[in-house]
Amino acid sequence: MGIREFRRDYLTRPIFRWAGGVLPPISDTEREAIDAGTVWWDGELFTGNPDWQKLLDMPPAALSAREQAFMDGPVRELCSMIDDWKIAWQDRDLPPEVWDFMRKNKFFGMIIPEKYGGLGFSNTMHSEVVRTISSASVVAGVTVMVPNSLGPGELLMHFGTEAQKDHWLPRLADGSEIPCFGLTSEDAGSDAAAMTDSGVVEYGKHEGRKVLGIRLNFHKRYITLGPVATVMGLAFKLFDPDGLLGGEKERGITVALLPTATPGVSHGERHIPQFTHFQNGPLYGKDVFIPLDWILGGQEQVGQGWKMLMTALAAGRGISLPSQSAASAAMCARATGAYARVRRQFNVPIGMFEGIRRHLADLAANAYLIDAARRLTVAALDRGEKPSVISAIMKYHATERMRESIGKAMDIHGGKAIIDGPRNYMGGQYRSVPIGITVEGANILTRNLMIFGQGAIRSHPYMLKELEALSQADKDKGLDAFDRSFWAHAGHSIANAGRAFLRGWSGALFAPSPKDVGMPHHWQRLSRYASAFALISDLALLTMGGALKRKELISARLGDILSELYLLGAVLKRYEDEGRQKIDRPIVDYIMVNGEERICAAFDGVLDNLPARWAAWATRIVAFPFGISYRAPSDRLTDKVAETLMTPSEQRDRLTPNLYLGEGHETHALKDLERAFQAVMDVEPIEKKMRAAEIRDPEEARERGVIDAAEFGRLAAAAELVQRVVAVDAWPMEEVSPLADQHRKPAPKRTRAAKPRRLAAE
Ligand SMILES: Cc1cc2nc3c(=O)[nH]c(=O)nc-3n(C[C@H](O)[C@H](O)[C@H](O)COP(=O)(O)OP(=O)(O)OC[C@H]3O[C@@H](n4cnc5c(N)ncnc54)[C@H](O)[C@@H]3O)c2cc1C
Repeated sequence: MGIREFRRDYLTRPIFRWAGGVLPPISDTEREAIDAGTVWWDGELFTGNPDWQKLLDMPPAALSAREQAFMDGPVRELCSMIDDWKIAWQDRDLPPEVWDFMRKNKFFGMIIPEKYGGLGFSNTMHSEVVRTISSASVVAGVTVMVPNSLGPGELLMHFGTEAQKDHWLPRLADGSEIPCFGLTSEDAGSDAAAMTDSGVVEYGKHEGRKVLGIRLNFHKRYITLGPVATVMGLAFKLFDPDGLLGGEKERGITVALLPTATPGVSHGERHIPQFTHFQNGPLYGKDVFIPLDWILGGQEQVGQGWKMLMTALAAGRGISLPSQSAASAAMCARATGAYARVRRQFNVPIGMFEGIRRHLADLAANAYLIDAARRLTVAALDRGEKPSVISAIMKYHATERMRESIGKAMDIHGGKAIIDGPRNYMGGQYRSVPIGITVEGANILTRNLMIFGQGAIRSHPYMLKELEALSQADKDKGLDAFDRSFWAHAGHSIANAGRAFLRGWSGALFAPSPKDVGMPHHWQRLSRYASAFALISDLALLTMGGALKRKELISARLGDILSELYLLGAVLKRYEDEGRQKIDRPIVDYIMVNGEERICAAFDGVLDNLPARWAAWATRIVAFPFGISYRAPSDRLTDKVAETLMTPSEQRDRLTPNLYLGEGHETHALKDLERAFQAVMDVEPIEKKMRAAEIRDPEEARERGVIDAAEFGRLAAAAELVQRVVAVDAWPMEEVSPLADQHRKPAPKRTRAAKPRRLAAE
């Protein structure tokens, strides 16, 4: 006891005072963001010694028989009803039969429990549905995604009163009410808490009676489904200047459920988000009066809006955009591999060129990685986790890698993917890229401020406890709590330094890997980086404190390391869950080598720029005694991985599952591509015979008896299919522009100027 008191009074107290000055103060909105959701695998990663076995023991994501039947039935049928080009070019909306089909089959009520008339699907199923529909059309994907994501349905289930749930959920489930969620306004984008939309508590008239309520004024923009929504989840700042509710005058961000038919609300105008014509637009409210019981969760939830949003975001961000990104990445991989096989230049398939193969390998790697991480994340959500830091990682990295995949797929397709029209299966995905990057937490902000910024406080084993101790009003109690956490933290840091030393100096030889895994060396390397990450995180927090918030580039790089540890762990788990398919080893190797390159570049960046140079040097000596070295994938490995996409196989199908490939359409560009790809592969032995005979022309090969008539016919059929794929659309001038007439050549007129010129020419 004596020693503890001595430690507290003579050692901890000065540190307590010093830490109060340097550690980041937490604002109320930050506090609510930090408290939202749960700490899951991110907590393990911050320990510096993650127990990988826990990750491996987690059952993989799976669908129930009922869910699978819905995937095979209504989801496929919906995809077959969609003409994405017509939506983009002509209708600029989903056609009525698609809206009706979505309502009738309860696509808007997938997450609503069955007892309220919804489908009660798991998070895994929600993700699979969004993924498949998005592969057919981003517009349809977003339309299904939003009511099931961050919005009135999700919020009602968590925070609604019983009366609100009974009223709204059945109506949302069958699509008789269409929801939207209004948070963003002109002044408040990324800094959503800075909104100027307001509600003032006062008496007013509702249904002919004088009641206590709220007078709302707001201008929201960018609201998905806003133009057609019948009910809006509205976030606003609540003020009670006359103290009618009792308590503070400024009551904070509050959420109400507002029918859009309420007097004073106007909506219906549409934004055009990159010609991706899902419903999106502004909503305005002028002196709208609502009763208090329209507050989501009732009066008890006054001022709890930010917490509600952060809680919903903690799960939602891990589902919607990662699922859409997984669809795009898989579609890019599958279609581009096939196109690179059927498209010839310089008389060889373009996929044989090494430069193209490098891009193809990246496409295969992204498809494997995003889906591995998506499935792991939704499996965690199905187990009741709401991992806010992991979902931020997923939102950022899935959308960034989707952007990379679409960019590479566009490059390989060349003009074919640039010229728009029904024959272009890439255009819709390409146009929608910036939307995924911007919504649900714009990516620059998410990387630089949130992943590590939030993770270091939320997921670190001691940081939050220390901050809480520092902010206690009772300083003595605070000092006691700080004393306990601080010394446990110090022990943890010393242990970590030891681990990082052992693993660094031995080149990961003494780093642990889970028992009985297929590729233990990769796990060992991750273990090595995890201990170095924990060490450098602690040193960065210790030496920079609150300044780390402003040093976004350092925070971003630390976030990159944390993210890679999560994503690469997901990849290794997928490899195990899929039964260690030998054929997948090159993809896994390729991803791991690239991932290590990213991890090492991030370590290098942090250590080069950490203001406390002693800390940087100490980390280098302890964790990277021989320097930070990393390799790029070898050309041979790249070549093998690229080949995955250039050959029809079970592996290619496993890499790009559950996409809509136009099978329900009479004509569809992706269907043409798949057929051409198969046909080209089928005639390969015939082409081989011609190559051996050094003949290029099939006609000549037939005449010289190298191939027979049937083979000639198959070659011609394959060539025709390829021609359909390579073709692009061209339109009559007047169909493209109403100003077409100005370019029609007028009948030549004889002018005075023309005559002498002609004479001169003669
Ligand atoms: C198509 C579409 C649909 C949408 N749907 C909805 C919806 O249904 N409901 C809703 O409420 N909102 C919706 N939004 C709004 C969306 O959430 C916001 O666009 C987003 O929050 C970013 O706000 P902003 O566009 O005003 O960009 P800004 O906030 O102006 O940001 C501009 C840039 O600055 C960066 N930035 C900002 N702060 C920092 C920082 N501290 N550090 C580093 N970088 C920073 C951002 O990352 C971004 O790159 C939608 C937007 C779009 C485009």
